Amino acid sequence: MGSLDSSKNRGSRPDINITEFPDLGEGGAENPSITDGEHVILECRHCNAPLVDVWVTSPEVVMVSRIQASCGHCDNKSFIKTVHGKFYVGETDYSLVSSVQYNNIETDEIDRSIVLSQDVLLSTVKIKDYV
Ligand SMILES: [Zn+2]
Repeated sequence: MGSLDSSKNRGSRPDINITEFPDLGEGGAENPSITDGEHVILECRHCNAPLVDVWVTSPEVVMVSRIQASCGHCDNKSFIKTVHGKFYVGETDYSLVSSVQYNNIETDEIDRSIVLSQDVLLSTVKIKDYV
Protein backbone atom coordinates (compact mmCIF):
# COMPACT_ATOMS: atom_id res chain seq x y z
CA MET A 1 0.00 0.00 0.00
CA GLY A 2 1.24 3.43 -0.83
CA SER A 3 3.77 2.27 -3.38
CA LEU A 4 4.43 4.46 -6.37
CA ASP A 5 4.72 1.31 -8.47
CA SER A 6 1.04 0.53 -8.26
CA SER A 7 -0.39 -2.17 -10.50
CA LYS A 8 -3.00 0.36 -11.63
CA ASN A 9 -0.51 2.22 -13.79
CA ARG A 10 -1.51 2.95 -17.35
CA GLY A 11 0.47 4.37 -20.20
CA SER A 12 4.20 4.46 -20.75
CA ARG A 13 5.40 6.21 -17.59
CA PRO A 14 5.54 3.75 -14.67
CA ASP A 15 5.86 6.42 -12.00
CA ILE A 16 2.61 8.20 -12.77
CA ASN A 17 -0.70 6.77 -11.67
CA ILE A 18 -3.52 8.53 -13.45
CA THR A 19 -6.37 6.59 -11.87
CA GLU A 20 -6.36 7.57 -8.23
CA PHE A 21 -4.33 8.93 -5.36
CA PRO A 22 -2.61 6.39 -3.12
CA ASP A 23 -3.93 5.86 0.36
CA LEU A 24 -1.82 7.92 2.72
CA GLY A 25 -3.41 6.49 5.86
CA GLU A 26 -3.75 8.18 9.24
CA GLY A 27 -1.26 10.87 10.05
CA GLY A 28 0.59 11.08 6.76
CA ALA A 29 2.44 9.07 4.21
CA GLU A 30 3.41 5.45 4.85
CA ASN A 31 5.94 5.60 2.05
CA PRO A 32 8.62 8.16 2.96
CA SER A 33 9.24 8.85 -0.72
CA ILE A 34 5.73 10.30 -0.94
CA THR A 35 5.36 13.77 0.43
CA ASP A 36 2.02 15.45 0.76
CA GLY A 37 2.92 18.10 -1.75
CA GLU A 38 1.13 20.79 -3.61
CA HIS A 39 -2.22 20.26 -5.27
CA VAL A 40 -2.79 22.11 -8.52
CA ILE A 41 -6.22 22.24 -10.09
CA LEU A 42 -6.15 22.70 -13.85
CA GLU A 43 -9.18 24.68 -14.95
CA CYS A 44 -10.49 25.24 -18.45
CA ARG A 45 -9.39 28.63 -19.70
CA HIS A 46 -12.70 29.06 -21.52
CA CYS A 47 -15.47 27.72 -19.24
CA ASN A 48 -13.42 27.54 -15.98
CA ALA A 49 -14.51 23.97 -15.25
CA PRO A 50 -12.09 22.19 -12.88
CA LEU A 51 -10.59 19.49 -15.11
CA VAL A 52 -7.75 17.75 -13.28
CA ASP A 53 -6.33 17.64 -9.76
CA VAL A 54 -2.53 17.42 -10.08
CA TRP A 55 -0.82 16.32 -6.88
CA VAL A 56 2.95 16.81 -6.66
CA THR A 57 4.35 14.01 -4.50
CA SER A 58 8.13 14.17 -4.90
CA PRO A 59 9.16 17.74 -5.72
CA GLU A 60 12.87 16.88 -5.24
CA VAL A 61 12.83 14.59 -8.29
CA VAL A 62 14.50 16.18 -11.30
CA MET A 63 11.64 16.11 -13.76
CA VAL A 64 9.80 19.04 -15.25
CA SER A 65 6.35 18.42 -16.70
CA ARG A 66 4.35 20.93 -18.65
CA ILE A 67 0.80 19.74 -18.04
CA GLN A 68 -2.27 20.74 -19.99
CA ALA A 69 -5.78 19.31 -19.90
CA SER A 70 -8.39 19.27 -22.62
CA CYS A 71 -11.91 20.14 -21.53
CA GLY A 72 -14.79 17.70 -21.94
CA HIS A 73 -17.26 20.49 -21.21
CA CYS A 74 -16.49 22.85 -24.09
CA ASP A 75 -13.63 21.33 -26.17
CA ASN A 76 -11.22 24.07 -25.11
CA LYS A 77 -8.13 23.53 -22.94
CA SER A 78 -6.59 24.59 -19.65
CA PHE A 79 -3.55 26.77 -19.41
CA ILE A 80 -0.24 24.91 -19.24
CA LYS A 81 1.02 24.33 -15.69
CA THR A 82 4.69 23.51 -15.10
CA VAL A 83 5.27 20.99 -12.31
CA HIS A 84 8.59 19.90 -10.77
CA GLY A 85 8.91 16.32 -9.51
CA LYS A 86 6.70 13.27 -9.60
CA PHE A 87 2.98 13.74 -9.55
CA TYR A 88 -0.34 12.02 -9.62
CA VAL A 89 -3.39 13.21 -11.47
CA GLY A 90 -6.92 12.68 -10.19
CA GLU A 91 -10.46 13.54 -11.08
CA THR A 92 -12.35 16.59 -9.90
CA ASP A 93 -16.04 16.81 -9.03
CA TYR A 94 -16.75 17.78 -12.65
CA SER A 95 -14.27 15.88 -14.82
CA LEU A 96 -12.25 12.71 -14.94
CA VAL A 97 -9.15 11.86 -16.90
CA SER A 98 -9.79 9.56 -19.85
CA SER A 99 -6.35 9.42 -21.44
CA VAL A 100 -2.86 10.85 -21.19
CA GLN A 101 -0.26 11.64 -23.85
CA TYR A 102 3.45 12.36 -23.34
CA ASN A 103 5.22 14.53 -25.89
CA ASN A 104 8.67 16.09 -26.30
CA ILE A 105 10.16 13.74 -23.73
CA GLU A 106 13.74 14.67 -22.85
CA THR A 107 15.76 12.01 -21.02
CA ASP A 108 19.10 11.95 -19.21
CA GLU A 109 21.98 11.42 -21.65
CA ILE A 110 23.42 8.53 -19.62
CA ASP A 111 20.37 6.97 -18.02
CA ARG A 112 17.60 7.05 -20.60
CA SER A 113 15.05 5.91 -18.02
CA ILE A 114 15.34 9.27 -16.26
CA VAL A 115 12.92 11.80 -17.70
CA LEU A 116 14.17 15.37 -17.41
CA SER A 117 11.24 17.10 -19.03
CA GLN A 118 8.06 16.26 -20.86
CA ASP A 119 4.81 17.70 -22.10
CA VAL A 120 1.74 15.97 -20.67
CA LEU A 121 -1.65 16.30 -22.34
CA LEU A 122 -4.56 14.97 -20.34
CA SER A 123 -7.91 14.35 -22.00
CA THR A 124 -10.89 14.72 -19.70
CA VAL A 125 -14.57 13.90 -19.90
CA LYS A 126 -17.42 15.71 -18.21
CA ILE A 127 -19.05 13.89 -15.30
CA LYS A 128 -21.12 16.79 -13.91
CA ASP A 129 -22.29 20.13 -15.28
CA TYR A 130 -20.19 23.08 -14.19
CA VAL A 131 -22.20 26.28 -13.97
ZN1 LIG B 1 -14.18 24.21 -20.93
